[in-house]
Amino acid sequence: MTSTETGAGRPHVVIVGGGFGGLRAAVSLADADVDVTIIDKRNHHVFQPLLYQVATAGLAVSDIAMPLRAVLRRSKNVRVLLGEVEDIDTDTCRVQLYDGSHVEFDYLVVAAGARTRYPRGEEAQYVFGLKTLEDARAIRQRVLTCMEMAESEPDAAQRRALSTFVVVGGGPTGVEMAGALRELAMTNAGMGRGHLSEGDVRVVLVERGDRVLSSFDPPLSESAQRQLEALGVEVETATDLAFEGPGRVAVGGESLRVGAIVWAAGVEPVSLAEKVGPLASDGRVEVAEDCSLPHAPRVFAIGDIAHCTPEGHSEPLPGLAPVAMQQGEHVARQIRRTIAGKDREAFSYNDRGTMATIGRSRAVAQRGKMRLTGTLAWFAWLVVHLVTLVGFRNRMAVFLNWAWHYFTFRQGHRILLPSATQLDRPALDPAPDSAPEPEARRAS
Ligand SMILES: Cc1cc2nc3c(=O)[nH]c(=O)nc-3n(C[C@H](O)[C@H](O)[C@H](O)COP(=O)(O)OP(=O)(O)OC[C@H]3O[C@@H](n4cnc5c(N)ncnc54)[C@H](O)[C@@H]3O)c2cc1C
Repeated sequence: MTSTETGAGRPHVVIVGGGFGGLRAAVSLADADVDVTIIDKRNHHVFQPLLYQVATAGLAVSDIAMPLRAVLRRSKNVRVLLGEVEDIDTDTCRVQLYDGSHVEFDYLVVAAGARTRYPRGEEAQYVFGLKTLEDARAIRQRVLTCMEMAESEPDAAQRRALSTFVVVGGGPTGVEMAGALRELAMTNAGMGRGHLSEGDVRVVLVERGDRVLSSFDPPLSESAQRQLEALGVEVETATDLAFEGPGRVAVGGESLRVGAIVWAAGVEPVSLAEKVGPLASDGRVEVAEDCSLPHAPRVFAIGDIAHCTPEGHSEPLPGLAPVAMQQGEHVARQIRRTIAGKDREAFSYNDRGTMATIGRSRAVAQRGKMRLTGTLAWFAWLVVHLVTLVGFRNRMAVFLNWAWHYFTFRQGHRILLPSATQLDRPALDPAPDSAPEPEARRAS
């Protein structure tokens, strides 16, 4: 396909990735005099900040995802293409797909994001990442299956093993996941009138650094730890996790048999970054001040895949949804300016703060000099996430689910759909084979 095939000879903008950055770039170009093709290996946009709620049965998959075609249905100049990009040639201006086809571009926006940074070696098969909907579903399946089996397990040691969950990584994802797992345990355990009681369920959060939420102010980290502990989460800071075999780990000298290990210890750019280069030391694509590649000004890299340090910042911007969205808007504007013969502008980031929730009525938030904890921070978190979620239907669904959970103390999505073999398999095997192979595992 060439650029002239897409419209009446208008510049062809290709966007790789329909996540926060790519989708925002596409929406921002909807009324521009260009043809846009957005390519994603999935047919939907995922609101990743709420993945942990799918993983812990609070929300359904369809509540936090939206088909790209539905989001962009009114953008007449935007075409959605389902496909996985294998290679990018910035000299010939071609994007190569794994199915053998290619797409030519006049401008390219690479917004392919990041993937879970799994432990290297065979340990990767023992853990669950949390980056995709498939990951979230696999965790939910595993945790609910373990809890069901624990209900009917008369042996106390085995029951304890089935209902011990370890979360590795004390960043926002790990903190939110640990809090939600503990809440799931508190509301779920004992409902079957079986052997499992709330006290059996152990959630251990392991952080290598000396505090959780290290990107927040130290008092907020302390508050987050206190709130987690009040919920019953065991927080182990300055601690490494050692793998001792399938379903067995050592945490701070204690050997634990566990039902599931959730790996929230960071992300790394997807492998496509290497095809775009040059790479910074963190593996992200080094970009110029306008987010274009230094050697190819018509190619932009944005979001989690980009290493961008705007003027006035001492550190590169973190992998956050607002960074990706603002960069998406920015590159759309730069493409318009370039076509209009105007000079490019440098990207500047408007930091609107960060927040993490720890469970019902518990959260921390910081914005500029403002610091919030507890219920107020939790309300702020609810509002921000509802407003940012893509799609009116999803906002309504999430709002109703949250209200239901708040008033009934029950998670609404605990339906297990086990395969015939899944309930037969030993409970403490590595992560189920049914989970799709993540890119990081595939690549290694
Ligand atoms: C569990 C979790 C919780 C988070 N919580 C928060 C939060 O509370 N607040 C916050 O600000 N940020 C949060 N983040 C980070 C935020 O989600 C990311 O910073 C943001 O998604 C980055 O946007 P992006 O457009 O760069 O990439 P993504 O949104 O990840 O989108 C990348 C897209 O590219 C597609 N893709 C990848 N490779 C290819 C390929 N080769 N070919 C075609 N398509 C491809 C993917 O399918 C995907 O749709 C969280 C992330 C996770 C995983």
